[in-house]
Order: sequence, then structure tokens, then C-alpha cells
Amino acid sequence: MISMQSPSRSSVSRAWPRPWVIAAWLMALILLAGGWVAVRAGDDKGRHTTVTRELIPIDGGGVLIDTPGLRGIGLHDADDGIGQVYADIEALAAQCRFDDCEHHSEPGCAVQEAIANGTVDAGRLGRYEKMLRESRWAAARGNAREERRQRETWKAITRQQRGAYRFRENNGLR
Ligand SMILES: [Zn+2]
Repeated sequence: MISMQSPSRSSVSRAWPRPWVIAAWLMALILLAGGWVAVRAGDDKGRHTTVTRELIPIDGGGVLIDTPGLRGIGLHDADDGIGQVYADIEALAAQCRFDDCEHHSEPGCAVQEAIANGTVDAGRLGRYEKMLRESRWAAARGNAREERRQRETWKAITRQQRGAYRFRENNGLR
């Protein structure tokens, strides 16, 4: 019977929505989960006041840093937070012979020395450097955006001033 088959076909298409609907649902879920994580990481005030920092391993190799020095998810000028997590490397770096030591092949590098004698893992130095690079890139991008905003503000002010001068000139007020 046709009248029985056609509603069942439409119910099948209702049970399996189009791919973009599934994609939208996934995005919403990811956003919700991200918001939850951000709230969890940000509300440590009063919840566990004695904890200074925490490293939470994430499946797939990453770690989530929960520290008062980091106020959000993402690396926005997070040098302070990175310095807290990699305090051992930063302490060693302070002992390097050169202030601008890049801890690769410079003579008197305390970090390379620690890697050579097994105190510090070479992979750990790599992760530290990668995080610093990303943090500085994010900070530079943030600065560029702020500079652009300020330039626009000054342009608008200058434009307004010129308009005011012109008005006074045109009306014989100067
Ligand atoms: Zn060094």
C-alpha cells in the first residue's frame, strides 16, 4: 500500500538529518563543552584556594593548565603561566652564561647541560619553546589589533578636529 510506505520513508529521513544539521549539532556540543571547561578553569576562586597550579593530562598528548596565572583557555600572552609550569627550565635558563641564550648550542647553557646529564627531558624543552612561541605570537597578534584600534580612534579625532577648523574658517570665526 502506497499510503503506508510514504510516511515511513519520510520518518526515516526525519530520523537521519542532513549532514550540515549533524555538523551544527556537533559544533553546539563542542561550544557547550568548551564553555563548561572555561567555567571550570576560571572559577577556582573560593573552590580550592590552596591549589596553586594543576596539570590535567588530556587524551592525545596535551595538558590542561589550571593555574591562577592563566585566566582562560588558549594562549593569550600566557608567558607567566608557562613560566610557572616550566619553572625548572626557567630556573636553569637564569643560570645560562648569556642572557639571550636560546638553549641550543650556546656555550655555558645550563639547560643543554641539564639535558645532557638527564635532569631535563629534551622533549620537555621542545614543548616549553613551542608554548612560548605560540604565546608570543598570540600576544603580538593582540598588540597589532590594539594598535590598529588606536590608529582608527586617532584618525577619527583628527578628522573631527579638521572639520571643526574648517567650520570656523568658513564662518569667519578665526
Ligand atoms: Zn641556555
